[in-house]
Amino acid sequence: RSLPLDPSEENVPRQVPGACFSRVRPSPVQSPRLVALSLPALALLGLEPPAAGALEELEAEAALYFSGNRLLPGAEPAAHCYCGHQFGSFAGQLGDGAAMYLGEVLSPRGERWEIQLKGAGLTPFSRQADGRKVLRSSIREFLCSEAMFHLGIPTTRAGTCVTSDSKVVRDILYDGNPKNERCTIVLRIASTFIRFGSFEIFKPTDEHTGRKGPSVNRNDIRIQMLNYVISTFYPEIQQAYSDNSVQRNAAFFREVTKRTARMVAEWQCVGFCHGVLNTDNMSIVGLTIDYGPFGFMDRYDPEHICNGSDNGGRYAYNKQPEICKWNLGKLAEALVPELPLEISELILEEEYDAEFERHYLQKMRKKLGLIHLELEDDDKLVSELLETMHLTGGDFTNTFRLLSSFSGDLDPLKLEDFLEKIAMQCASMEELKVAFRPQMDPRQLSMMLMLAQSNPQLFALIGTKANITKELERIDQFSKLQQLTAADLLSRNKRHWKEWLQKYRVRLEKEIESISNADVWNAERVKIMNSNNPKYILRNYIAQNAIEAAENGDFTEVREVLKCLENPFEETEGLAAVQEDQEEEETLAAAAA
Ligand code: AMP
Ligand code: MG
Ligand code: MG
Repeated sequence: RSLPLDPSEENVPRQVPGACFSRVRPSPVQSPRLVALSLPALALLGLEPPAAGALEELEAEAALYFSGNRLLPGAEPAAHCYCGHQFGSFAGQLGDGAAMYLGEVLSPRGERWEIQLKGAGLTPFSRQADGRKVLRSSIREFLCSEAMFHLGIPTTRAGTCVTSDSKVVRDILYDGNPKNERCTIVLRIASTFIRFGSFEIFKPTDEHTGRKGPSVNRNDIRIQMLNYVISTFYPEIQQAYSDNSVQRNAAFFREVTKRTARMVAEWQCVGFCHGVLNTDNMSIVGLTIDYGPFGFMDRYDPEHICNGSDNGGRYAYNKQPEICKWNLGKLAEALVPELPLEISELILEEEYDAEFERHYLQKMRKKLGLIHLELEDDDKLVSELLETMHLTGGDFTNTFRLLSSFSGDLDPLKLEDFLEKIAMQCASMEELKVAFRPQMDPRQLSMMLMLAQSNPQLFALIGTKANITKELERIDQFSKLQQLTAADLLSRNKRHWKEWLQKYRVRLEKEIESISNADVWNAERVKIMNSNNPKYILRNYIAQNAIEAAENGDFTEVREVLKCLENPFEETEGLAAVQEDQEEEETLAAAAA
């Protein structure tokens, strides 16, 4: 929209037929102040670290501009209208009621960045909500955006997190009183925030839900948006083909497919669970976008669900790869007729699984220090490692990190030492019992077994057979656990680990056979492992502690945690101290209880 609206009308939720973007203005907050900033993210925009002594001034300026209280020169704030499939069904228009663009920055390095404020108040697309975000959600988004970047995973960035004295109500506490929370704003940075859902605004009516898109069913706008996305973010593809040709659009879709597959492979390799993989949270350039109820796994559990409202486990950890593929299918539908479905479906089948598996295995080989050979059974070694972790309740991050200190020689003393270490970080008996407790009522289970026997095909079809098998395995594990003492448990875990480590050693020996200098190889292996297996990830409790301190007005912990996450592969003192403090507190709390 090129016409400026009357400023008083800009922020009112309203019908904006035919619009992809609407002008809007951030709503000021009271007493904005900086919680934290990311210097490397701000450097993208050409904002240099302050001179010594000027930090306070910089913080005050950042708070003023990145709360939205003052506009940067040349800013043209706008909100972007998009749709999405939420939990599998088309939801019509749903975004962006909470984020607004400030504009684009051309950096001194010649890069082009879009900047956004998330939580700066109402937009035309806010519907019944308030366009605000609170300290909790903003700190999580701020820290995780930067953590993912430093882990080497494609992501949108976060430049600042600014809080204020303005309040909104989010939850009603159990004493019946509303909880007032501080309005908080995150400055987000990315090449683009356009999503799969940005193309779904052209969907006139959904055949299943009957829900309507926001009446942007105009071919000219759809083609304009596609041309914009390809020429701006995929210039090589634009140059190689003629405008809006099917070949150009196919090459674009192929590239989005591959980037998405690689992104989710990266997630799987650090145990990251996104939590809300709706099509509106899928970036058109393959970035991780929208950090809400995300979680990094602690103990490995393939069915880990990090979103409390995801009852069916649609977005569980092990579902992420297939869900991203499903989402690509929805993007394909939204690109019709510019790209016929027969072509996009073929591309998806040709590229997605292969790219995912290739990238996943490549990364896992690095995590295991398998650097010279690619052997056929490597995928089996990885899945058996994960099974062992699951069975013993191994911590995903710590187990991988520990493996670099496994020397591979089976000197019984060293092996015993290593087994001790790896078993020490496995789950306790109580935790394992929770993990393997039966999920189904026994009567329900026996009824299902009976039905399954009478109609096996039908049961296989709806996936019930797999559920029953899984449940039976769980019951079996549970009853075995019931009979163990703590000492039994330790030796059971060591046995499982010894079994896997023997296979790992055999594989490492094959590496050694293929090289000339074992010492050089070992040093290289350890280096590659340690730069692919993070020491520090943003565990939920770490974020939570930083949030609680910030809610009490102390931002130092957020800043300390950020510092560690900026060097996730290095041993730094800061987070180690945070972790130790936490452990100490837990021990004290347990003792008190
Ligand atoms: P999400 O589930 O986080 O991807 O959110 C989906 C959409 O809900 C966003 O794109 C926003 O348009 C909208 N939304 C979320 N939070 C708010 C809010 N506080 N105010 C207005 N709209 C919101
Ligand atoms: Mg979202
Ligand atoms: Mg969100």
